[in-house]
Amino acid sequence: MMSGGCLCGAVRYRIDGPPEFCVLCYCRDCQRASGSGHVPVMGARRAQVTITGDTASYGVRADSGQMAIRHFCRTCGSLLYGRSDDERDPIMSIYIGTLDDPSVFQPTTAICTRSRAPWDRSVAALREFPGMPFQAAADQQQGAT
Ligand SMILES: [Zn+2]
Ligand SMILES: [Zn+2]
Repeated sequence: MMSGGCLCGAVRYRIDGPPEFCVLCYCRDCQRASGSGHVPVMGARRAQVTITGDTASYGVRADSGQMAIRHFCRTCGSLLYGRSDDERDPIMSIYIGTLDDPSVFQPTTAICTRSRAPWDRSVAALREFPGMPFQAAADQQQGAT
């Protein structure tokens, strides 16, 4: 069992089943919807996902021709999950950052990499900070927020 929810806690979900797929999606739609370079996504069977709380949604037509409908919290805006407009589609997408324990996610595949930004290669060796480094560097780096 996995569980998750939005930033403010108004929306919660639980998944009673194993992931169908685990990918990093670099498509422009995910970039815009998340404000990020990519979105980590887990496929889950709709029948195994229980959602409580009210979401708003926004649909865009995907390359497949189906509408991809992203659901987010009405209050805090967290991007929670997505599904197609076809009710017969048994699989939905869970956005990993909203899991209570995102560390369980093991991505196997990167998709839509043609729109991946050069700075967003997950395999790149980067300087790492356990927290936010910007406070100490704020004197030199004006404007970084
Ligand atoms: Zn919320
Ligand atoms: Zn995407």
